[in-house]
Amino acid sequence: MDNRRNVYFFYKEEESLQPKISELFKLAEKNQFIVVDHPDEANIIVSIGGDGTFLQSVRKTQFRDDCLYVGVATESNVSLYCDFHIDEKEKMVEAMLQERVEVRRYPIIDVRVDDKTVFHCLNECTVKSGVIKTFVLDVFIDDLHFETFRGDGMIIATPTGSTAYNKSVNGSVVDPKLESLQVSELASLNNNEYRTLGSSFILSGDRKLTLKIVQDGNDHPVIGMDNEALSIRHVEKIEVSLGSKKIKTVKLKDNSFWEKVKRTFL
Ligand code: NAP
Repeated sequence: MDNRRNVYFFYKEEESLQPKISELFKLAEKNQFIVVDHPDEANIIVSIGGDGTFLQSVRKTQFRDDCLYVGVATESNVSLYCDFHIDEKEKMVEAMLQERVEVRRYPIIDVRVDDKTVFHCLNECTVKSGVIKTFVLDVFIDDLHFETFRGDGMIIATPTGSTAYNKSVNGSVVDPKLESLQVSELASLNNNEYRTLGSSFILSGDRKLTLKIVQDGNDHPVIGMDNEALSIRHVEKIEVSLGSKKIKTVKLKDNSFWEKVKRTFL
């Protein structure tokens, strides 16, 4: 890590964590790192918390692809985005002192709403009915009208997001080496008028998914980007594709995606 010396720490202000965070600051400085006050000045962004904090750290620092994100867990276990635990200082020093750190790249998805701004997600984009009534979506894969969905909504997950919300609705866990998007249903209504595939499907990274919201009065969906909701009220079209950017994290020995999946779920 010889040419990456500016570190920004991202964490929630919690009194109980403060002594451990101060120790991390000291450890970084002792190893000739410069602790910076603003993420724009950093080439290493360290998130201290859990996966939820890691998602926030990436979002609040604009999904930078020119820096390394490092997840440090504070709870009993390391998690899907956290390769270190706050109590494992030796492991952190060892990684810091390596001349060339191996890097793991996680795909992110781009979401364009009504041909305007593009938003990014590291876990998933969710599109849900904002009211009790079901809502109707015309689902297109590239230019093909694939199905008309009626129900609560849909989740479009990245491979690393496949172990999160997507997994709770029986979606598959996908290897992040597969550049892909997974589309999962939330309570689809199936009858003689509305028919959906009924299972999750995985799209290659060069496909585009378009959801056109049928303008029948229930066209104010809640759009979730990882752990944040978009405050857009009226929506007609949502286009989702794999982004060109990737999030870089430190790749450690004995900590592959599948080792983490095994540790977390089995
Ligand atoms: P939260 O609702 O407070 O917690 C969601 C849980 O999911 C936390 O335990 C979090 O881990 C874990 N998590 C986050 N990303 C993960 C991943 N990629 N793989 C495995 N577990 C993951 O919200 P949050 O902590 O801010 O996380 C936001 C995420 O929650 C969303 O992106 C969505 O995927 C997920 N979510 C799940 C459901 C569901 O399963 N029914 C419903 C809504 C949202 P940590 O404890 O380490 O933070």
